[in-house]
Formats: sequence, structure tokens, C-alpha cells
Amino acid sequence: MHKANQAEKDNEINKCDKCGEKSSITLAYGPHYYCKRHFTQFFEKRFRKTIRKYKLFNQKEKILIALSGGKDSITLLHLLKKYYSKSNEIEALIIDEGVAGYRKKAIKAAIEMCKKLGVKHTIISFKEEFGITNDKIMPLILANPKMGGTCAFCGTLRRNIMNRYAKKMGADKLATGHNLDDEVQSFVMNVFNNDFARMKRMSASSGIIEHKGFVKRIKPLYETPEKEIIAYCALNEIKHYSEECCPYSWTAKRNEYRSMLNHFEERFPGTEHSILRFYENILPLVRPKKSEKQKLSEKLIECKKCGEPTEKEICKACEMIEKIKAEIKNGKLKNLKKSNTTNHTKYNKKLTCVTTKHSAK
Ligand code: SF4
Ligand code: ZN
Repeated sequence: MHKANQAEKDNEINKCDKCGEKSSITLAYGPHYYCKRHFTQFFEKRFRKTIRKYKLFNQKEKILIALSGGKDSITLLHLLKKYYSKSNEIEALIIDEGVAGYRKKAIKAAIEMCKKLGVKHTIISFKEEFGITNDKIMPLILANPKMGGTCAFCGTLRRNIMNRYAKKMGADKLATGHNLDDEVQSFVMNVFNNDFARMKRMSASSGIIEHKGFVKRIKPLYETPEKEIIAYCALNEIKHYSEECCPYSWTAKRNEYRSMLNHFEERFPGTEHSILRFYENILPLVRPKKSEKQKLSEKLIECKKCGEPTEKEICKACEMIEKIKAEIKNGKLKNLKKSNTTNHTKYNKKLTCVTTKHSAK
């Protein structure tokens, strides 16, 4: 039997754990069966519990949400507004990376949600900030893999904007829509890449360096599986952008980890929760001590170009932009556009989206 039909059948047979009504959703890792009302309760309770457990923010702190218009950040906005708008000031930051077609539609969904919920939003573009769009940058990156991955590049630029604007806007915390799947993928990627330094930095609230130049990033959906976010939006009719993927997402290595972990989760429900718990168990052993953090923080100076904290004269984002502009000046960009566009259309069909927040780590 087809999996979707099987799931529907399961829901028909099974009763909600809480009220005995026909279940609307089966969470295989429990297994738990919930009707719409009790799933919504379960989902929202876990969200609030994550915030308390990891002490993600305090009352009165201003929270800036990095809003892409996709399901994760829209759900984040919806829930923060629902439960914390009385105790906290909430605003949204929308970043326009400059990807023709795709990004405009997602931004439209983000703006609509802000208007609906009465949340103030600010749109910042790569074009205004760096003088260049993703559509200009990516063909060059694709043709020069040594320059790094497309999403890694895009993410560095986005982090630069997010931190700078969070400070400008007086935010105490910057909230991103990272969910359980994202976190587990990152952990496994770091293991496979032997990237211990990056692994140590992972957590529900980011960063090991405490420095006045960094606004702390928080992930209130850290313990929430992606599939449940999709179900939550569908059951509660929360509108979000869900059409095509970013045309540059097809190269992201993360896609492979995503499909591997999805496969494991399907075969062995609960795998992703286990990986997260394993990581949390080792975290206290690998986190740098206070004195080490202090040392790291003391190394930081202000980027000569944008003022962001950095160890070198200019920060990573500004360095990358300089490099790209030099490559464009050399005339390398022109010859490469065509072949790379063909590649992505072929590959994209097989993939689910790597959403824009993925590189915001
Ligand atoms: Fe940037 Fe997201 Fe596109 Fe990757 S998928 S290039 S992170 S917008
Ligand atoms: Zn800089």
C-alpha cells in the first residue's frame, strides 16, 4: 500500500491518545496518535518548553525573527506572537538574497503574515548591502567549487546582515526557524567532515563566544521535527511559501544528509531525537571553559569594512564579496551561466528544498 494511504488508514483506525476521537496524525516515534486539537496542544507545549528549558529569552527582551516566508520561520513568528507578544517586543527581518522569481514570492508570503499578525518588518537586500545579488554570485561559485558551497557563501552574507541589523534594531535575541531535522543534519555533517570546532558551537542558542558585537541567536524550534511543522501549518491553516526551491539549493551537501536521515527516521522512528540527545550528552564535555571563551572574545576586532566582530582585518563576508567582485572583474562570470542552470533543473526534481535558514548557522 502507498505510504500516504497507509498513514491515513492508521489515523482512521487509531484514536487520539488524549480524547479518543479519530486521530489526525500519527507520530511514529511515540507512537502517539492525536486529533487536530491535541496535536496542536502537544506541538505548542513543546515549543514553549524548549524556550524555558534552554532559557532562550527573558521577559521584556526584544526578539528579532529572521523571516524567510517558509514554513519554519512563519511557524516561529506565529507562535512567538501567540504566546510572547505581551511580554516581548517582536519584529521580523526579511532578507532578499536576490534570486529572481523564487525569493519574491517567499517575501510576499512573509510580508502577508507580518501584516496579518501586526508584526513590524524590515526588508534588507544583498544588493543594497553588498552591491550584488545571489543571481550574480552563484554561477561563479558553482563553476569554482574551491570558493566553497553556494549555501555556505550565501549563509555567511546572511549572518553578517542578521547580526548587524539585530544590533541596529536594538534586538536582544535573533530567532531563527531551525528545526530538529536541521540540527541533526548539522551534527552529522560536522561528524562526517571532522569539523569539531563547528560542532562545539551547535546548540539551541548559538555561539560560544560572548561578545558585545554578537547578538545571540536562538532556535525555539530546535526540538521540533520538520514533518510536524508541515502538519501543524496544514492543520491550522497557516499560510507559508512552499512552492519551488531556491535554484541554488541543489548543490548543497546537506541534501544528502537530509535524505539519509529521513530514511533512518522512517525505518527507525526516533532516530533524530536520539542523535540530538547524544549530542547534548557530549556537549558539556566539549564546550570551551569560561577562560577559553574569554580568550576567543578578546581576539576579536572590528571589520574595517562593515564593523562586524572578526579575527582578521576584514570579516569573512566582506572578504568573500571582495573575492567575488574581483572574479567578476576578471570576466569569469559570463561563460558559466548556461551550463550551471541546466544542471540545477535536472537535479532539483529529485530534491526537497534546502530552505533559506539552513545556512544561518
Ligand atoms: Fe542561499 Fe538558501 Fe539559496 Fe542556499 S538555498 S543559496 S542558503 S537562498
Ligand atoms: Zn565586514
